[in-house]
Amino acid sequence: MASVFGKIVVGTYVEIKRSDGRIHQAMVTSLNEDNESVTVEWIENGDTKGKEIDLESIFALNPDVAPDEEIAPSPETPPPPTPTCVKVNKIAKNRRTIAPVKNDTPSRDNRGIPTRARQMQPQQPEPAPPPPPPSQQPAQTNQAQTQQQLQNARRKSNCVKEVEKLQEKRERRRLQQQELREKRAQEVDTTIPNYEIMYMIRDFRANLDYRPLTTADLIEEHRICVCVRKRPLNKKELSVKDLDVITIPSKDVVMVHEPKQKVDLTRFLENQTFRFDYAFDDSTTNEMVYRFTARPLVETIFERGMATCFAYGQTGSGKTHTMGGDFSGKNQDCSKGIYALAARDVFLMLKKPSYKKLDLQVYSTFFEIYSGKVFDLLNRKAKLRVLEDGKQQVQVVGLQEKEVKCTEDVLKLIEVGNSCRTSGQTSANAHSSRSHAVFQIILRRKGKMHGKFSLIDLAGNERGADTSSADRQTRLEGAEINKSLLALKECIRALGRNKPHTPFRASKLTQVLRDSFIGENSRTCMIATISPGMTSCENTLNTLRYANRVKELTVDPNQVMEGGRPNIHAVNQLEHLEHLEHLDEEWLSMSPQRDDLKLLCEQNEEEVSPQLFTFHEAVSQLVEMEEQVLEDHRAVFQESIRWLEDEKVLLEMTEEVDYDVESYATQLEQILDQKIEILTELRDKVKSFRSTLQEEEQASKQIKPKRPFAL
Ligand code: ADP
Ligand code: MG
Repeated sequence: MASVFGKIVVGTYVEIKRSDGRIHQAMVTSLNEDNESVTVEWIENGDTKGKEIDLESIFALNPDVAPDEEIAPSPETPPPPTPTCVKVNKIAKNRRTIAPVKNDTPSRDNRGIPTRARQMQPQQPEPAPPPPPPSQQPAQTNQAQTQQQLQNARRKSNCVKEVEKLQEKRERRRLQQQELREKRAQEVDTTIPNYEIMYMIRDFRANLDYRPLTTADLIEEHRICVCVRKRPLNKKELSVKDLDVITIPSKDVVMVHEPKQKVDLTRFLENQTFRFDYAFDDSTTNEMVYRFTARPLVETIFERGMATCFAYGQTGSGKTHTMGGDFSGKNQDCSKGIYALAARDVFLMLKKPSYKKLDLQVYSTFFEIYSGKVFDLLNRKAKLRVLEDGKQQVQVVGLQEKEVKCTEDVLKLIEVGNSCRTSGQTSANAHSSRSHAVFQIILRRKGKMHGKFSLIDLAGNERGADTSSADRQTRLEGAEINKSLLALKECIRALGRNKPHTPFRASKLTQVLRDSFIGENSRTCMIATISPGMTSCENTLNTLRYANRVKELTVDPNQVMEGGRPNIHAVNQLEHLEHLEHLDEEWLSMSPQRDDLKLLCEQNEEEVSPQLFTFHEAVSQLVEMEEQVLEDHRAVFQESIRWLEDEKVLLEMTEEVDYDVESYATQLEQILDQKIEILTELRDKVKSFRSTLQEEEQASKQIKPKRPFAL
């Protein structure tokens, strides 16, 4: 039997008619068998709106999706009352990027608003106006009155019949469903911890029409491409019978079935739908992910551009598998990762006649950013300094760039880097969850940079919540991760809007990648990796929300900041915080890092509470001071060696019978004065460094996230 929903599935776009007569497109987010209606959603003035519409009205406007036997409603049938709109997503109201709903296909850049089908209220038809009081009724003849009454009665009886029919139908369905439930109860596998939820998800999926991405799908040109990859349930999840709560019904839709509980303890699913440029399900290979994400960027670097590709997600969700290649056991097959696949295509491209004549050389770098510090993975983890010159050119001093001639050369480098990255670690993930790994392919022409492709396996996003840990090391790592992922999001957003200023100085990651976020010819791609399990639901939702915010491209003019610098006159609650008084005044007023941090926190007020901002400031100051103290200490150390030599000469002089006492005393005093001056200076720096350490600790205790920390 054909479904009452005809060709409609979740994710179908249909035309809907609004109470003011407008007709526009909306996406179907749920099919409601109970009352033969569908719930649709669309975006309007930055809000996701939704309503329930009965099937009849849908089919009237969209005959192409009606069941084959469906007869179009006769012209006499009055259209059903247009339901009122219900706001479904309050959060969306605070979004700063707004796109008006158009009457054509939905804007691709504003599709990603998460929707909450469950939060929608079924709409009530607008009540009919009350009849006018008898005194106002015009006089009527008896005959006319009788006729009117007869007509009313007929209409009413038709109406009653309709209602009765509907009730009958509903009752029948209710009985069928109950039978189904009872039948199921007998075959239920109660060893599965969440079997009810499992059946709900199974039912939901049974109604879906799957149209996954295939190689035949078009590879679109995106300046910013954001996509999601779901991995399969792993052995551990299967052994505890974790449920797969992610459905990818089509090439760009991801659904999360979040189990919820009502007040009366009955459980239900909250189905949230997200849209991205591409959605890869758990059967997708690395090669396929590569084809739609990083591969289109290879050409960019040959065309003198900058490309970046990020893997973002919680630890264990598949970032390293995607970027570096599959780990089977302890060994990673890095030839199947995006690093290697990109390198392979770079060498292929190099052979093309148009590029061959450019005589390009290929180089690679591989480094890691951990707690705001850069370590060279191709040079035994040497710690490197990041410097910015007057022209804002950022340099990683001493970073090894190794020339590579073929894919095998690249694979060898990746292996060297990987083993260096994880050496001395109990597990690969223990370390990689806290650091970003950056692999770069650089094209040079006669030594000059031609193009650069940076591929980044980011730190686990859940670590961003470590900011309130009791342990300083963990806290500082968490702060840097939190900050860098927020900064990354803003830098990509700024790239999409061609903004002159990006808050790249707010983190080492964005500072190091700065040249990739600017320029006409920069392109980027983000692969958000998600774990399918119910136990990862919260993290998965955070990942999807973050990825979703990376790509909202239209602008609210009020948010535009002119001239590249943050608008310091803007009313800003952060400015008035008393906590700031403790921090180093000079640092607060001078540091461009601080400006960028402030901008970043303003742009992310939803996630960053004022206390978290204060904490970030304390951490940034601490990190900067640590660098200064270390640098000064090194200088003093070198100086001390010279002092020793001078003193040795001085003492040797006193061995002479007729040495000049006057000269000895003068020289010794000079040395001691110098020592005291230099050591006092260092001691003062250390003192203030120590008090910054205390401030950081205090600030960390004040952190109150605005909502459970979501990146
Ligand atoms: P992350 O780098 O995000 O912490 P990993 O890439 O190390 O996560 O993946 C965690 C585990 O899941 C690894 O054992 C990996 O082999 C496996 N895995 C990840 N993605 C996939 C996938 N798409 N298909 C099969 N196994 C996967
Ligand atoms: Mg990893």
